[in-house]
Amino acid sequence: MATKPGKAVLISEARANAHFPFLDLRAQFAPIRSETLAAVEAVLESQHFILGPEVERFESEMATFVNCKHAIGCASGSDALLLALMALDVMPGDDVITTPFTFVATAGAIARLGARPVFVDIDPETYNLDVQKLARTITRKTRAVIPVHLFGLPADMSALKKIAEEHNLPIIEDAAQAIGARYGDRLVGTIGNVGCFSFFPSKNLGGAGDGGLLTTNDPQLAQRLRLLRIHGSSKKYHYDVIGVNSRLDALQAAILRVKLRHLDEWTEARRRNASRYQRLLRNAGLTEYISTPIEPPGTGHVYNQFVIRAAQRDELREHLKNEGIPTEIYYPSPLHLQPAFAYLGYRRGDFPESEKASAEVLALPIYPELTEEQQVAVVQAIAGFYSN
Ligand SMILES: *Cc1c(COP(=O)(O)O)cnc(C)c1O
Repeated sequence: MATKPGKAVLISEARANAHFPFLDLRAQFAPIRSETLAAVEAVLESQHFILGPEVERFESEMATFVNCKHAIGCASGSDALLLALMALDVMPGDDVITTPFTFVATAGAIARLGARPVFVDIDPETYNLDVQKLARTITRKTRAVIPVHLFGLPADMSALKKIAEEHNLPIIEDAAQAIGARYGDRLVGTIGNVGCFSFFPSKNLGGAGDGGLLTTNDPQLAQRLRLLRIHGSSKKYHYDVIGVNSRLDALQAAILRVKLRHLDEWTEARRRNASRYQRLLRNAGLTEYISTPIEPPGTGHVYNQFVIRAAQRDELREHLKNEGIPTEIYYPSPLHLQPAFAYLGYRRGDFPESEKASAEVLALPIYPELTEEQQVAVVQAIAGFYSN
C-alpha cells in the first residue's frame, strides 16, 4: 500500500479540528505559478520597471474589464483616493462626505488634503452609506461624496447619484473591495465620476505588494490623474501642477495581468461559497441567531468578505478560535471614534448603526479555494456555540 494507515488518521484528525487560514493566497498561487513566473521574468529581462508597456496593457485590460474609457494605474488604493480628490481640486476647508464604517484610507485621503471628512451613517443591512441620511448632511462646503462598496456589495448608486446631481457634487467610488461587482448593467467604479481600486494582496484581485488604479469616463479627469501620479509632469522636468509619485510598478502590472484572466472564475467561486454558507447556515437553523449578507435586487456582490452579524460576537469568535476556525472583524471601531479623527469632534452615539455594526460583525473565510468541508466545519462550529 502506498499510504500508511497512520497518515490517513492524521488527516482526518486535522479535519475534525479544523485548521486553515482566513485567506489562503498560496492556494491561489499554486495553479498560476508558471504563468506568473514567466510574466515576472519577462519584466526582469526588459528591465523596464516604471510605467511602460506592461502598465499600459494592464490599464487597457482593466478599462475593458470594467467597461470604461480610461484606467490609470497608481501605487495603492489609498493613493487612488488621494489622486481622485486632488484631480477634483478638493482643498483645505472643503467638506467631503463618506461613511465612518470603512477602512481608514477612505477618510484618511480626505484629511491628508486638509479637507474635512464628514460622516453619514450606514444602512444596517448593506453596511453601505445610508443615502436617506445623505441629503440632510450636504452643505455649501460639501465638495464631493465617497461611497464605499463595502465587502464587495455596491452602494445604492442610483439614489446617491440623484442627490449628488441635484447638488452638483462629484462622486468618487471607493471600489477597493468590489472589483467586478455589478450594479444594474454596470460594474462599480464606472457609475460615479471616478472609481478607485486597490490591488492589496487580500483584495479580490491582489498583486504581489501594493498597487491601485483609477477608472473614469471623463477624458479631462483622466489626463489630470495621469499628470498627478507622476509629479504633475507632462514632459520631463516640466511641471504643470504639484503632483505626487504614485505609479503602478511594471512588475505588479505583469502579475496583475495574469491574475485578471482568472478574476471572473474566482468571483464565481466566492459567490458559490457565499450561497453555500447561506444554505448551510439556514439548514442548521442558525439564521435565528445571526444575520447573513444580503444582495439587493439588481446587484452582484463579489464577497471580498462574507460578514455575519451576531449579538454575542466576541464570545462566538473566541469559541470559533478554539475550534480552529479563523475569523476577522471588519471593522472593530468606526472611524469617528478613532483617535486620529478625534479632532473632527464626533462623539459616541453620533452614528449608531456604524457603532452597532462594529460590535456585531464577524467575517468568515470566503476565498475561492475554500472547500465545502471547510465551510461545513465553520458552520458546525457556529452551531456548536449556539447549542450550548
Ligand atoms: C483596501 C482598501 C483601501 C486602500 O487600499 P490600499 O491599496 O491598501 O491602499 C481603501 N478603501 C477600502 C474600502 C479598502 O478596503
